[in-house]
Amino acid sequence: MLEASGALALQIDVAGNIILATEASAQLLAYPREYLLKSSILDVVSFEQREQLAELLRACEQDAPCRTGRIRFSGGVGESRWLDLRVCRHADEDGNPSLLLFGYDVTDWVDNEERLIEASFRDPLTGVGNRAMVRERIAGYFAGDGTGKAPFALALMDLDGFKKVNDSLGHEFGDALLKQVSVRLLGAVRPTDMVARLGGDEFVLLLDGIASEAAAIGIVEKVIHVCRQPFHLAGCQIRVTTSLGLTFGTLAHQSESQLLKRADLAMYDAKAQGKNRYCVYTPELEHRLDEQFRIEQNMFEAVQNGEFLLHYQPIVWSGSGKVCAVEALMRWQHPTGSVPPGVFIPVAEHNGLINHLGAWALRCACAQLASWDALGLDVGYISVNVSPVQFRHPGFADSVRRAIKDAGVSSHRLVLEITEGALMTDPEAAQDLLMELRALGVRFAVDDFGTGYSSLSYLRRFPLSALKIDQSFVADMMNSPHARTIVFAVLSLARELGLVAIAEGVESDEQSQLLAEQGCELVQGWRYAKAMSPAQFVDQAQAGTLQLGSAQVFSK
Ligand code: C2E
Ligand code: CA
Ligand code: CA
Repeated sequence: MLEASGALALQIDVAGNIILATEASAQLLAYPREYLLKSSILDVVSFEQREQLAELLRACEQDAPCRTGRIRFSGGVGESRWLDLRVCRHADEDGNPSLLLFGYDVTDWVDNEERLIEASFRDPLTGVGNRAMVRERIAGYFAGDGTGKAPFALALMDLDGFKKVNDSLGHEFGDALLKQVSVRLLGAVRPTDMVARLGGDEFVLLLDGIASEAAAIGIVEKVIHVCRQPFHLAGCQIRVTTSLGLTFGTLAHQSESQLLKRADLAMYDAKAQGKNRYCVYTPELEHRLDEQFRIEQNMFEAVQNGEFLLHYQPIVWSGSGKVCAVEALMRWQHPTGSVPPGVFIPVAEHNGLINHLGAWALRCACAQLASWDALGLDVGYISVNVSPVQFRHPGFADSVRRAIKDAGVSSHRLVLEITEGALMTDPEAAQDLLMELRALGVRFAVDDFGTGYSSLSYLRRFPLSALKIDQSFVADMMNSPHARTIVFAVLSLARELGLVAIAEGVESDEQSQLLAEQGCELVQGWRYAKAMSPAQFVDQAQAGTLQLGSAQVFSK
């Protein structure tokens, strides 16, 4: 029966020498039976398993009648075999002790198991690691089990615009691209580093034994560089860029999900800064993004609760100090305090709410002008800020048209303040849009002039009416000859182009005097008035604190 079972069946003495062996055992271990009978059991197991088997045998002799264990036998003329062993204590009639070993060959089972384990750590599409592997490796860093050397860095990478490749060229194409990206990544990192794909177009790089932040950044820069080179796929050449977030493993234990979250925040920032770059995680970054998230969440409710309102800052004639216009400035009165536009406008631009808010500001400002008209207050024109995002939105021109029509004010009394950046990103499109709205009668002022990059030839071609000198130059004007030169240059540029110049942020008498001497007709700033609520504006106008006197401002 033992022979027929094909299993291992041996008897050994307490010193480990094989006393009895079946022919089936000899075949299984690939040794001649005679050889087995002259050997110790420890001679026929794999070298690294000797200690484990010796322990098993000792334990069985001493305290248990039977023991089991999985042991790898070296295999004489064949390959090594894995056996599930059962060892039993035995004593003959005279009481001489020995051990009986029975074993089943589980080599195929062990191989399959290894393959499955291996596969469970691989991304099937690209063959690089997967999330489980990242988790394992990070756990290894903290366990100090030698799988990776700390300190380490983790980079999360995303292909910019991968969705576009997938959508326009098909998923097969996208898959092929991901495979090629994996190959490039493996080529860019060091052999000890790990590349894994989390899914979609998200890859993780685990950089081992990083000597300094600069070393990790060096690798990340190389990755950005190699991925920027064109890919050749199915006869097409395509280019993609990548955004990466980098974080460093510290001594304090961190889970893979914590580290990935940090790298993800940094990557988000890299995308927000215009993609094709890396950002490094810092606690400040996390704080900033948390804050942004909170604002974003509150903002949706704020719109519904009507927490947004407009305040108005007078724009005055520098000579007479009379008000000729107002600039509408958005305010957010949150129940826990007001949030400055410098904080909420960028968030609204990011989540798209600015289109909604901007359209509301236009409607509200035009309606305000109409209501002042009804009170007999002569506020020449109203100036409304337009965000670059809103300016590029296809519904923008319509929102302007509707605001004017609904309020029933003359379009000549609306000025839109647009920054140089918004105008110059796509000057051709900007010119068309300006022309379209100018034809309605709407006017344009370039806001924060001097802080962006304007092409002078476009400045001439755009149908503009005013340049607003950025308040930073006005603020520095008295102390810095450089700032003063810029202010004077903008004033003469405006004169040459037939545009009205408006100096912003005028706070002192000296500034106001110098500007007047240089022929700057319109000024705005705390020296004259701060932005105020419509009620305050009416009070001050009726009390005479603010003197209204619009007169003709624009020649074009
Ligand atoms: P801006 O268009 O350059 O507006 C002028 C800013 O300077 C306002 O800040 C105003 O309160 C402030 N200011 C006015 N006079 C003085 C002064 O004498 N000294 C100093 N230091 N500051 C002065 P505010 O209201 O905080 O607005 C900041 C920015 O937010 C605005 O800059 C504008 O870019 C944006 N913004 C405000 N309202 C809107 C809006 O309705 N739509 C859009 N898209 N952006 C807006
Ligand atoms: Ca402005
Ligand atoms: Ca400004």
